[in-house]
Amino acid sequence: MQLIDNLYGYPWMGMGNNCNSYFFANVLPGNNPHIIIDPGHTANEMGEPCLDNLITAIKTDGFDVSDIGLIINTHTHIDHYQSNRGLQQMIEKASNESNKPQIALSKEADEYRLGSGARWIEQYGDSIKFEPDFYLTEGPLSFGEGENKLDLEIIDTPGHGPGHVCIYWPKNKVLITGDIVFIGSVGRTDLPGGDGNMLKASIEKLSTYDTEYILPGHATEYGGMLKGKENALQNFSFIKTNYFPII
Ligand SMILES: [Zn+2]
Repeated sequence: MQLIDNLYGYPWMGMGNNCNSYFFANVLPGNNPHIIIDPGHTANEMGEPCLDNLITAIKTDGFDVSDIGLIINTHTHIDHYQSNRGLQQMIEKASNESNKPQIALSKEADEYRLGSGARWIEQYGDSIKFEPDFYLTEGPLSFGEGENKLDLEIIDTPGHGPGHVCIYWPKNKVLITGDIVFIGSVGRTDLPGGDGNMLKASIEKLSTYDTEYILPGHATEYGGMLKGKENALQNFSFIKTNYFPII
């Protein structure tokens, strides 16, 4: 569904686990102009067809996943990146190998994926392997030109998992928070590479951004997304009051 301008959101609605995906339409030059952030599971622990559902939802909005030119991962937990390779292969096949979408993530997230995060290969097999095309580093990240120019900012936000990044879109004050900040909750720190103090520092850092929209990686009982500067501030304040003492 369309969220703001050319940003679309695909909140996960199934029973089992999967992440929310976000999609910037028509921003890259060339034949594959779309960007997807966290394509999520191909199929989750309940066997739900997460990627098929995502493809259908994107199609409903009038876009073809074959036109994706870049896949970005906020971090390398399997529920955010399992579809990377499958999606890439699908796009290569649809274009007779002439288009191969790029994959970008932070270097640290990539190292984690191949290190202690590699346990997922045992469960999901080689299909989850992929080659990153470039690494995300903290600071501005711009795509395209003219009317379609997209200026983003990558924010290093460790604490939930190694190399986790959040993405800020200054034009519309959008904060894509991955698994750092949810609506009324925060990402877990008990997985390998998790660190409570680092998570708190990351949340403090995010709370300094001028934010109209918080778009998290997962929904909670309080909701999937949040709109309004006051609500965003209130969400940070709620988290600091209720979660900081126990993280
Ligand atoms: Zn995660």
